[in-house]
Amino acid sequence: MKWVLIGASNIAQQWVAPAIRAIGDDIVGVISGDGARAKAFAEQHGIAHASDAIEDMRHWGADAVYVSSTNEKHESQTLAAAAMGLHVLCEKPLATDVAAARRMAQACEDAGVTMGTNHHLRHNSAHLKMREAIRAGELGPLVALRLTHSVYLPKHLQGWRLDNPAAGGGVVLDIAVHNADSVGFLLDAYPVSVTAMVGNTGMAKGMEDNAMSIWQMANGVLVSTHQGFNTPYAGVSLEVHGQHASMLGKGVLHQGPDGQLWRNDAQGARQIALDQHNLYERCLRHFHLAVSGQPNDLADGWAGVRSLAVAQAVLKSASQGCTVTVEW
Ligand code: NDP
Repeated sequence: MKWVLIGASNIAQQWVAPAIRAIGDDIVGVISGDGARAKAFAEQHGIAHASDAIEDMRHWGADAVYVSSTNEKHESQTLAAAAMGLHVLCEKPLATDVAAARRMAQACEDAGVTMGTNHHLRHNSAHLKMREAIRAGELGPLVALRLTHSVYLPKHLQGWRLDNPAAGGGVVLDIAVHNADSVGFLLDAYPVSVTAMVGNTGMAKGMEDNAMSIWQMANGVLVSTHQGFNTPYAGVSLEVHGQHASMLGKGVLHQGPDGQLWRNDAQGARQIALDQHNLYERCLRHFHLAVSGQPNDLADGWAGVRSLAVAQAVLKSASQGCTVTVEW
């Protein structure tokens, strides 16, 4: 498959461009809001075409685009790609509001192109093992999930995420969407209501850099999540607790193929072997499966709409000081 990168971004250069090439695909062009940056990015990464005009990609022989600009630009870029008949893998959050995300998923559906949301964490082998065990009923009736996803935002990413609400800054849109997708993937369902509080530790300006929330599933299962930008030593974890067993993933909410998985039950605690692999490469392989109509684990466009709806509910609950219904 031939790809155009829309957005000369850090995530494109650090993870996704190498993953595209690792699975045997090609990158034929890059689009940036700044022509000089597009050209420099293309030269640095050996990409043939570069432009600041999105219409130019029509002539580059591409099959798909990877959208990793700041979040307020995702909608127009996705709509343009869909109108050209190109498949779209878009970064999370899909947009800064749910209505825009819906328009994106619908436009891709109407154009008959595949749309994916780059929720890479569901491709972590710990998530996959947990999902298998949950589906097989091994944990017994589920009681709760706990996600601890508070990190230290690296210096080189301390830009728009901390001071630009119009670009979709703030820790909730950045990280709660991933948590919502992990829950949706594990349980095949999304929360119906949310109670949340947010805080500011002084890292972000005029918006939240710390947030905790409790989500209720339709069947009564409770989910607790903590997402933060300013906890260098907290560590990340994902736990699923059932009446017959618990599964505890430590370090499984990173970008790299990290983490350990433990199972606790009446027989005691034991570690479960993980088949570690690059999460972004698996996402791209499953994008291919989706394009060819085969069963796949890709977070599609609608999964991106739903994860954004949960994050928006977190923000709404925190601002209103009450429990809110998730609307998507
Ligand atoms: P960056 O800040 O690196 O890039 C975002 C945009 O900023 C780029 O598209 C580019 O605009 C512009 N930009 C980049 N570098 C410069 C520069 N030196 N000077 C001026 N402008 C610059 O963002 P991220 O890579 O961190 O995030 C991009 C998207 O990817 C977001 O939607 C984010 O939420 C998502 N993301 C997803 C991750 C995942 O694992 N799924 C992880 C990290 C981010 P232009 O488009 O005009 O080139």
